[in-house]
Amino acid sequence: MSSEVPSLQSDSLSNPLEHVTLVWLSGVGCNGCTLAMLEASNPGIEDLFFGNIPDAPRVTLIHPELSMESGVDFLAMLDRAVDGRLGPVVLVLEGAIPEDRGDASGAGYRIGRGKDGHPLSLSWWVEQFASQAEALIAIGTCATAGGLPNALGSPLQVRSLGDLLGPGFVSRAGLPVINIPGCAPPGEAFIETLTYLFLHLQQLVPLDLDDEGRPRWLYLHETSPLPPRVEFSPAIGLDLSNRPVIHCPVPSTGWMRKLGGCARVGGSCIGCTEPDFADRLLALARPDPAVN
Ligand code: SF4
Ligand code: SF4
Repeated sequence: MSSEVPSLQSDSLSNPLEHVTLVWLSGVGCNGCTLAMLEASNPGIEDLFFGNIPDAPRVTLIHPELSMESGVDFLAMLDRAVDGRLGPVVLVLEGAIPEDRGDASGAGYRIGRGKDGHPLSLSWWVEQFASQAEALIAIGTCATAGGLPNALGSPLQVRSLGDLLGPGFVSRAGLPVINIPGCAPPGEAFIETLTYLFLHLQQLVPLDLDDEGRPRWLYLHETSPLPPRVEFSPAIGLDLSNRPVIHCPVPSTGWMRKLGGCARVGGSCIGCTEPDFADRLLALARPDPAVN
């Protein structure tokens, strides 16, 4: 899946694109993806705030924990964004989307109330932005595939962003859901994808996504679930052949500024970019041969 330059459909963009509102919504997750985004530094989200990246627009972030506004002021910002009054919008979803059964199970994931006083669910907000946003990004395996909240035994019923919007979905700019899996993915992978997206929205570059909606150039790199320090302990008796091959940017890019990152620093690889890593791959990262 490659979204070539001429495929843009949006009629709402100026060229050059000077300003974008980035609306971040949080579902069922741990907010680790927010922390990963904040850790990015080369470049970081601040560089987008201040317009430091050539040809990228200045960004205003609306975020449930990071925005200065709260309560009715925060809701008013969301309303303005979803009505198009804040200009071009890109939606980012962190966490999985809970099924709102109208009982207490989804109560933590409702945002404000409608005109009839009824609480508005996260899925309602996502659907409103789906028709308004130039592009929608799912960050983290919770948002791209359900992740940990969808693991066996979870009492929750959750969906990914792609599942909520359906397989044929395209945004105003003609893009499918952009998936950046990982638990959490490196923040710099997110900022890099966002920057490419901004350049793509101005028809400066193609945005090359693979069949799973991932930025192809970031998720080309292969790794396998492995216990910690396995490369320094070849004699620990594990059969490392026939391990599933998965795709993740970290073995190539590290965590930040090409440094750190799971198996690159002797940690385990738990295969966290895979949709069902918690059920299928986590055990392969244990150093005890009895469980492998
Ligand atoms: S993908 Fe992982 S880090 Fe991100 S919100 Fe879900 S549990 Fe947290
Ligand atoms: S190296 Fe493994 S554990 Fe680390 S981010 Fe990639 S898939 Fe996840």
